[in-house]
Amino acid sequence: MFEFSSIEQYHAALKEGKTTCLQAVEHYLDRIRSASHLNAFIEVYASEALQKARSLDQRRNAGHPARKLHGVVVGLKDVICYKDHKLSASSNILKNFTSLYSATAVERLLAEEAIIIGNCNCDEFAMGSTNENSAYGRVLNALDETRVPGGSSGGSAVAVQAGLCMISLGSDTGGSVRQPADFCGIIGLKPAYGRISRYGLIAYGSSFDQIGIFGTTVYDVALALEVMAGPDEFDSTVSSTKVEKYTDLIGKKSKYRVAYFNEALDHSSLDPEISSSITGLIEKLNKDGHEVSPVEFDLLDYVVPAYYIITTAEASSNLSRYDGVRYGYRTQRKGINLTDFYKQSRSEGLGKEVKRRIMLGTFVLSAGYYDAYFTKAQKVRSLLTKKIQLIFREFDFIIMPTSPATAFKAGEKTTDPIAMYLADIYTVIANLAGIPSISVPLFSHSNGMPFGLQVMSNRFNEVHLLRFSNQMMQEQKAQPGKLK
Ligand code: GLN
Repeated sequence: MFEFSSIEQYHAALKEGKTTCLQAVEHYLDRIRSASHLNAFIEVYASEALQKARSLDQRRNAGHPARKLHGVVVGLKDVICYKDHKLSASSNILKNFTSLYSATAVERLLAEEAIIIGNCNCDEFAMGSTNENSAYGRVLNALDETRVPGGSSGGSAVAVQAGLCMISLGSDTGGSVRQPADFCGIIGLKPAYGRISRYGLIAYGSSFDQIGIFGTTVYDVALALEVMAGPDEFDSTVSSTKVEKYTDLIGKKSKYRVAYFNEALDHSSLDPEISSSITGLIEKLNKDGHEVSPVEFDLLDYVVPAYYIITTAEASSNLSRYDGVRYGYRTQRKGINLTDFYKQSRSEGLGKEVKRRIMLGTFVLSAGYYDAYFTKAQKVRSLLTKKIQLIFREFDFIIMPTSPATAFKAGEKTTDPIAMYLADIYTVIANLAGIPSISVPLFSHSNGMPFGLQVMSNRFNEVHLLRFSNQMMQEQKAQPGKLK
């Protein structure tokens, strides 16, 4: 029986001849088949993955040194291009569209001998918090199938949670990696904006979007980051800040200065049990020799409005390319003029939430309301970024909940979009400020569900973010994907 606990151990087992890449892929294909009701994958590349596994086994047996992600089985969110494979952003408007090239992140995974096993379900165009806005239907949380896995990268999260692949990629514009990781009891990392190339990532809010990683150990996540990060001639927003060898640096232990916001822990929307668990952790961290102190933060009520104004504005522009002419779905209506053709194709092809956001974004950008909404939201963004920068002069991290509640029941929030948006209160901060942030699965709730601690660091300080996360996971003896 194949068993996966970490990439390091998998690689050791391959080296000692105790397992093969083929056994790994067969194992995951079996698991995906038996868990198909979870609806985590849209398409599974079974024969391709098996073939790749065989050829990797041959290469290794012939004495070729294994590369960093040799035989590592990966799932991709359905917003990340993989050449010659279907890509739809879980939207009817892109159904049957095939990628013409691979995202830089994917190229880098493949160059290190990763095996891509399939593409994962998500909210349409990555807009949502529950994976209920998908043209392929909802994804079930494997720990409680009556609950959502979170979103928008719900399929990628469940793929790792339910042991259907080793690691997976998601995208995080306002929390779509960290929040599903929180709901599923696994690790979800959103690197700093500009850490991983967005080339080949379907755009939602381009000044927020970032590819993120799901995994069950900090080491696995760090390794994937190390492989994918760094400058790319196809994306000028990628920083040239040095990409460190994270995997060599995260094992060390350090004492840190950590900030938290009472405004976040006392917030009326926060589940009291989440608040008290985090308060308990703060005491423990202080006892362990870290310096954890409160910092005043008066912007919390403004972050969700600012996020939804700017991202919908960017989305309304980004999604204008899906017009029925250049990509995917087009209306079958005959005899209509070009404007009606666009309208009809978009009305038929796009889902309700996506349409809502395009309209909202168009509204906040309209001549009469631009200053009242868009300019104001940009001001909030810049105030927030300055405030966060000031905090990082004195502190290494900011900690807070990832989400105000554990995984919602399916359907619980679908009729109230505002309530759904407000639940993004803790995650959007990192995207507005462009800083890295991670959800670390440290806690379990009396309702039986897991939840995480969100940790943010200064821009491009992923090394310490990962090191601190690793340290806490070891101290809390966290078991991702399983309830304690
Ligand atoms: N829930 C947020 C939204 O719907 C986050 C989306 C994301 O990060 N892609 O916008």
